[in-house]
Amino acid sequence: MNSWSDAYDSKPPWDVGHPQFAIVELVFNNELRPGKVLDLGCGTGQNTIFLAENGFDAIGVDISPEAISLARENAKEIGVSVGFRVGDVLRLSRYFPAHSFDAIIDSGLFHILSDDDRWTYVRQIHRVLKENGRYYLLCFSEKEQSRAGPRRVSKAEIDTVFGKHFKINYIADTLFESALHVGGAKAYLVSATRLEGK
Ligand code: SAH
Repeated sequence: MNSWSDAYDSKPPWDVGHPQFAIVELVFNNELRPGKVLDLGCGTGQNTIFLAENGFDAIGVDISPEAISLARENAKEIGVSVGFRVGDVLRLSRYFPAHSFDAIIDSGLFHILSDDDRWTYVRQIHRVLKENGRYYLLCFSEKEQSRAGPRRVSKAEIDTVFGKHFKINYIADTLFESALHVGGAKAYLVSATRLEGK
């Protein structure tokens, strides 16, 4: 049992029962195209399932066994094939070979990591992404004023943490849907391309 399992004892605020609008838009405007995609901190799998329904070979990983079992139930109910596994995103290379994904998405995980863990995280995603693979991050932004919710992430932090291993394509203003934030919390959608290298 860990604190993230306790989070699923009742419905957590980020579990809005459908995929995040920003992720849906990435697919519907053809920016994120079918391929092998990893969903980090997938929770109950709404985004992962949406990707699978739209032709992606989608895998979701979450540290909470409760979240993964709810995600498996959701996928079964819809009748779509999705790979879910319990795992720690700070240890991705234990579960997946190097360069195995065309794309990685993160909806709401990065913004809960400590400063130290951010560096481990970036090394791990760089390792399992293919060369020139895409990474999309949806996180609460520094513009969100309310007290509720996770850490706020600044553009400067994104540049610092990802800049060495990734080319940042854009950092766009968007919203993160949450039961605690009417109309959504102010968020950033980051698109980055993995730079060549080990
Ligand atoms: N992506 C989902 C859930 C976001 S909440 C959504 O958009 O709704 C953040 C999730 O990250 C939680 O499900 C939590 O269990 C998971 N998590 C936290 N730390 C993690 C870690 N180190 N490795 C994998 N998952 C983690």
